[in-house]
Parts: sequence; C-alpha cells; structure tokens
Amino acid sequence: MMARRPKFRGTFFVNRFFTHLECGNCGKSHDADRLQTTCGACAGPLLARYDLANPEMPSLDEVMSRRPGQFRFHEVLPTAAGGGTPTLGEGATPLIESRPLGPGVHVKDESQNPTGSFKARGMAVAIARSVELGATEFCLPSNGNAGGAAAAYSALLGVKVDIAVPANTPQALVDESRALGANVTLVDGTIADAGRIQKEKAVANGWFSVATLHEPYRIEGKKMMGYELFWDLGRMPDVVLYPTGGGTGLVGMIKAFDEMEQLGWIGSERPRMVAVQVEGCAPIVRAHHEGLDSAPAWENPDTTAAFGLRVPSALGDQLMLKGLRDTNGTGVAVSETAMLDATDRLAREAGIWGSPEGGAVLAAYETLRDSSWLEAGETVVLFNTGSALKYV
Ligand SMILES: [Zn+2]
Repeated sequence: MMARRPKFRGTFFVNRFFTHLECGNCGKSHDADRLQTTCGACAGPLLARYDLANPEMPSLDEVMSRRPGQFRFHEVLPTAAGGGTPTLGEGATPLIESRPLGPGVHVKDESQNPTGSFKARGMAVAIARSVELGATEFCLPSNGNAGGAAAAYSALLGVKVDIAVPANTPQALVDESRALGANVTLVDGTIADAGRIQKEKAVANGWFSVATLHEPYRIEGKKMMGYELFWDLGRMPDVVLYPTGGGTGLVGMIKAFDEMEQLGWIGSERPRMVAVQVEGCAPIVRAHHEGLDSAPAWENPDTTAAFGLRVPSALGDQLMLKGLRDTNGTGVAVSETAMLDATDRLAREAGIWGSPEGGAVLAAYETLRDSSWLEAGETVVLFNTGSALKYV
C-alpha cells in the first residue's frame, strides 16, 4: 500500500494529488514544483491540475465532516502544507437567502472574509504556495482590495509586498495595506498602468508578481467559492451573478464545477454564469455580446465607485468568455446610477452593507428578471464581493 505522505520532489514537499500546471489557452503542461508565472508558449494563464480520479481522494461526506474554511478540501489546493496552511480564517462565508430581494435569491457574502473582501481567498493560497517555493518578496497592482489581502497574508507569512494602486483609490484601502506592512505607491491612471509599473519593478528587483492570473494560485483560492455554493445549497444553483473585473473568481468557479463533475459529485449541470460589469468599463460583456473569443481592451474607462470593476483588459478574457458560452450564461453592464441605487437597497432591504460591486450585481439581477431571462422559481446567487467600509 502507498504510504500516506507527500511525495518528495526536488527540495519541496508537494500535495501528492497535485500533478501539474496546464495552460488554460493552449494546454501546454508546466511543472508544479517551482515558481511559475504564465504559459511559456503563449503567455496564457496556468491552471493547476489534480489527480481527481485517485481512489484516495476523500469522499464528499469526508470533506463535509471537516471544519469549514478555505482549506477544508485541501487535496484540490496546491499547498504542500494542506490543512496546515497558515490561515486568517478565510472562506466559509455565508450564503444568505434574501427574500426581500426576490424569490430564490441568495447572497454569497464575501465581505465576511479577512480584510473584508473575496480577495483574501486567492491571496491565502497564492502567497502561501509561493513562499513554499521560495519567494520572499512580492508585488502586485491593485484596485485596493487585492492589495489589502496581499498585505495581510504577507504579514502572516513574514514576507515583503510592494503594491501599486491608482491614485484615486479610496483612502481606507491604502491605509489598510500600509497598516499591514506593505509598501504602497499611488500611480496616475488605471490598474493597467499600475500593472505596467509593477512589471518593471518586479524585473528590476527580483520580486514575484501575484497580479491577477499572472501566477497560477490565486484562482485556486477563488475557486473554493464554487465548491462552497454546492456545499451550502446541497445542489447547484441555477444562476450565478458575479462582478467581473480580473475575472479570477468567475474562471475559478467554473473550474471548481468541472472538478466536481470529475469527482463524481455532480453531473453535467452548470449554473448559468453571468458576468456583471459597469457601462463605463465592460470589455467582457461587450465581447460576449459580439460573440468574440477574446476581449479587446476597453478604451478610456470611466471612473466608477466600483473600483474593482475598472479593469480595461484581463488576462483571463478567453477563459471567461468560454465559461459564459459553455454555461449558457450572459453578460450585463449596469449604469453607475442603477448600481449605486441597488447598493443602497442591498443594505436597506437585505441588511448587507456591501461594496458597489455587490450593488452592481443586484442591479444586473433586476435587469435580467425584468427581461425574463430568469425564470420564476430559479435559485439565483448574487455575489457581494466586499464590505462598504473599505470604500468610505
Ligand atoms: Zn499556453
């Protein structure tokens, strides 16, 4: 019988179920036992692949018997430390049934994560795995929430992080990252401009970038949202509306559904995935409705209260668009006015003082309901990705 201990490969222990990395665009295989960025052949995002058919994979019942949290099902996460990976208590956020918002409507409230946003999930995994592989200095561009999460997990793991954010980022987001020990630079322009600056600094200083989909593991943390929807409901929802900036969560949840099918937990059913953006910056929504396989960058994005949605181009565009098509989903762009109005109602009617991104999702839900894209009695999940406190 095989010993139940991690394989020893090179100088690092690895999760024995974690086999390799695969390019999400061209399929090329990459080693999982060293620091990796994007695909060496096409620069596409790398996705972690696991031996899901391994008979030693725990059953659904076994996973459900464990303490809830991000690392509850650590066999499908990349860290060698598995269930012992350092944590701030991320994951296991509530799925709140909210009748006032509409019949069948549930809110997955990600504001209850450490640092008040869903970004904690990805950073918990990406920083921990990269530290296992030897990284000690990190950098990223951020619209604010990812920076705060990266700062928190860098503090937890005793490593350095350098963050660049657009100059108009809310002060609370900047203060949070600095309080957690990060070096924060304000730059003119959007997150794309911040990204260019961080790319140069990363090369010059030997920093490891944890920019969205520029490394393989933030998506692995985000995908746990998909597993949790199934665990929370005991079945798949019919529709999931997700505020889409970099889109890691959207791609991650679709990956989780595919993994659950391979594990034999579900069949081929999938929720219809809906990407929600704002009218002033909607590259994925536009590309979806034009039937494109990739999304051209959005020229001159408008400023918006939903900082996380001001992402004019995203590395995961092809995966997002494929996910919307494959699940018979769609894309909805909402006006700034509709978004802010819905953010107020999310607070007053549902008791969730959420981020504007959460309000955008509620506004998009109402658009789809009124257009009869949604059917009566469907189970709909709205994602609130962050706390309003971060935007004050
Ligand atoms: Zn590739």
